[in-house]
Amino acid sequence: ASFGFRTVPEDAKETLVKDVFDSVASKYDLMNDATSFGVHRLWKDEFVDRLKPGRKGALRCIDVAGGTGDIALRILDYARENYADRETSVEVVDINGQMLKEGYTRFKKTMYHNTPQVSFHEANAQALPAEKFLDNTYDVYTIAFGIRNCTSIPSVLKEAYRVLKPGGTFACLEFSKVENPILSTLYDQYSFSIIPLMGTVLTGDRESYQYLVESIRRFPPQPEFAQMIRDAGFATGRDVEGPGGSWTDLWGGIAAIHTGVKV
Ligand code: SAM
Repeated sequence: ASFGFRTVPEDAKETLVKDVFDSVASKYDLMNDATSFGVHRLWKDEFVDRLKPGRKGALRCIDVAGGTGDIALRILDYARENYADRETSVEVVDINGQMLKEGYTRFKKTMYHNTPQVSFHEANAQALPAEKFLDNTYDVYTIAFGIRNCTSIPSVLKEAYRVLKPGGTFACLEFSKVENPILSTLYDQYSFSIIPLMGTVLTGDRESYQYLVESIRRFPPQPEFAQMIRDAGFATGRDVEGPGGSWTDLWGGIAAIHTGVKV
């Protein structure tokens, strides 16, 4: 069966996304490594390195679409290893209970288990329950490889803006647009044929990986997404770091890091 994704009405998208991640949850980390040859680890390291958690004291972080806790673990390790900070905390939020369960089990093997440094919450990025995720609460909001799965990017950004403290940082790591035509052609070939094939071989689930590849193609290119971040009220690189990029391309735009500051 095919998801026939393009014909699925928007309101069914959340259920669809939930099903996709339900079916890949237990193999998610393995597939990430296989499809990116481990490169996602380097990108995630770079993403967290830019935030330098712990440098200016403990941070209260929220990692939305946090899945199995890859970003959360890196934030906590970074703060501890570089700044001996054991006060920084991360609330991992995801719409999918299965992914969170994988994350919880994984954290059991870490020193953060059963400490106030990490917690897991099932919620939709587009409508974080306001009584639980209060206004002006977090120093850092991260979302990695998650926003493209959301039906409404503006709703996600609006919520990010709401829960961040004034001066707080929004940071997004996401697959993006490759400008170079040669790289772009190679990348297309790779992602449309090899990734779904790997999905079939490793997890027996071609459709989920097909969907993931298609969702990457539909995501707005870097300048458009940067504008959406500004439209949500954030100051981006252009305003806070002088003229130039509001984002940083990784590997020629295969992925990109966008940041914004709540003003
Ligand atoms: N951030 C993790 C990482 O980088 O490894 C997980 C990324 S995974 C590709 C995408 C995650 O987004 C999945 O765990 C999925 O359940 C979650 N997700 C999709 N739509 C969501 C929504 N509307 N709200 C919250 N999480 C969502």
